[in-house]
Amino acid sequence: MKTIHYFFLFAFLMFISPLLLPDYQITLLNYIGLNALVVLGLVLLTGVGGMTSFGQAALVGIGAYTTAYLTATDQLPNYLTLLGGSPWIALIVGIVITVIAALIVGGLTLKLSGHYLPLGTIAWGISLYYFFSTLEGLGGHSGISNIPSISIFGYALDHSNKMFYLIWLIVLLAIVLTKNLLNSREGRAIRALKGGQIMAESMGVNTFRSKLIVFIIASVFASISGWLYAHNQTFINPSPFSLQMGIDYLFMALLGGVGSVWGAILGSGIFTMMRQWLQDYLPMFLGNDGQYETIVFGLLIVALMQKAPMGLWPMIMKIIPKKIKPLDQHIQMKETDQKLTCQAMPNKGDIVLEAKNVTKKFGGLVANNDMSLQVHAGEILALIGPNGAGKSTMFNQLSGVDTPTSGEVIFKGEKINGQYSRKIAQQGMSRTFQHVKILAEMTVLENVAIGGHLRGHQGVFSSLLRLDRVEENILLNEAKLQLERVGLGEYLYAEAGSLALGQQRILEIARALCSDPCVLLLDEPAAGLRLKEKEALAALLLKLKAEGMAILLVEHDMDFVMNLVDRIVVMEFGQKIAEGLPEEIQKNEAVLEAYLGGAA
Ligand code: ADP
Ligand code: MG
Repeated sequence: MKTIHYFFLFAFLMFISPLLLPDYQITLLNYIGLNALVVLGLVLLTGVGGMTSFGQAALVGIGAYTTAYLTATDQLPNYLTLLGGSPWIALIVGIVITVIAALIVGGLTLKLSGHYLPLGTIAWGISLYYFFSTLEGLGGHSGISNIPSISIFGYALDHSNKMFYLIWLIVLLAIVLTKNLLNSREGRAIRALKGGQIMAESMGVNTFRSKLIVFIIASVFASISGWLYAHNQTFINPSPFSLQMGIDYLFMALLGGVGSVWGAILGSGIFTMMRQWLQDYLPMFLGNDGQYETIVFGLLIVALMQKAPMGLWPMIMKIIPKKIKPLDQHIQMKETDQKLTCQAMPNKGDIVLEAKNVTKKFGGLVANNDMSLQVHAGEILALIGPNGAGKSTMFNQLSGVDTPTSGEVIFKGEKINGQYSRKIAQQGMSRTFQHVKILAEMTVLENVAIGGHLRGHQGVFSSLLRLDRVEENILLNEAKLQLERVGLGEYLYAEAGSLALGQQRILEIARALCSDPCVLLLDEPAAGLRLKEKEALAALLLKLKAEGMAILLVEHDMDFVMNLVDRIVVMEFGQKIAEGLPEEIQKNEAVLEAYLGGAA
């Protein structure tokens, strides 16, 4: 079976369950659905994007209070009367308020890193909660009651069995949208946030924008859940939107498997049911005094997390037999005649990239000292020197990953130091990293497609609605082409993390090529390669050079360098100690002394 068949099977089971199950179980399923919607947002935000949030409950509160206030207040202020009375208008108003709140809150907190981000989410989670409980129009601690039912074309959803369909329709829709987003150009950028931000920026991704996008989507999911909750309950007060509930949502996400969309459903399902059962049955054994269920519940959660630290969904996927696993685990690609446009290469011999007196200090350590070099179109320049000489630091200054303390970097006639690396990438510079920066859980193909980020233009909305498929197919075909070009054509759908280290380096070259660069910076591309692979790499680099590419590489393998490159710059202690043709460098006294040492 394919994933889509499973999806329809699930949808069908949900569709018939109100006909088969007793009312109280449908009520429970409603709660699971409401929670799942919030947790789905967390899967995107925390699982995929790597941003831990304790504050989602407060965003649920925004949706719930907006609709409660607008639909259940008798005397709305004049300027709001037009918006009052209809849950559907209230939904839209709620979403608008949520997006504005997410922009403000996200703008302030998403730039925080490490522990500060979760702390930030706790801070705004608590603030919003107090906001709900103290604002007079919102009913204080007693909240708002008499919230009307939602009607669809005059048909009132006034029973939990009827709300069930709306809730689960929205959950299923949210799953589809989320899946669509994740399998797109924007989605790859989002998936690169966790662990690959420097790389993503070097490939042209605006990582802050990607963070804001997932935050807004997660907030909107939470807000819609609040809207449904308010109309399902017909009354609300601040307590379900407290920090405690924010923590519960995070638990659900971790329990189900924070990295997978279906984990959201599973996590909220198990969490909600377990709590219900414990509340129902535990008092029979332990009596009514003392909140034993909270303690037992906490212990169970801890035990589950010990057994399945990645969550339950990945564990289930591991143990179910191959026969019933969905067949189409990876994206489908069609052949296409359409190609991405390429930038014109500079004329051979032109200076494409130039460092002028670049100095980089890390505190007292001068890692690059007054370094100057030029790379021409159609030339391979090697940067060599002993370990710690400052070569990688130089690469970072050239590619905008870092900014020189003084001096200039000129790319195609323009000063670029101080610019974001994504801006530099846009102008045609691409690089690989000495310590490979790949996304281990993504396929080889998707990793390379990140390199093509700037060559696609489809945004979030077209990704959500799958209007990006034509461009997406072209992008994936380009990634495939680059992989075949570097000799990794047979690994398209392998997990990138499963490749040998040498192959991962080659993958990075394919990713760099996918961005259609005119300058390629390769930091130790041949390390870990076997002889045959080195020969293939050398042949590829020569071909690129013949096409007019400017290539700067750092490499330790002297045979590889001497036979391949046109010129060499030698560094030691952050300084340039020699520059010239390979045969000159081989005879250079200073180089022999400092670098080749006793070997000559
Ligand atoms: P190479 O690539 O030539 O082996 P690097 O450029 O990695 O050398 O390092 C040059 C020197 O700068 C080393 O002494 C290294 O410890 C130091 N260095 C590199 N990056 C940093 C950093 N981010 N902070 C402090 N020191 C650094
Ligand atoms: Mg290095």
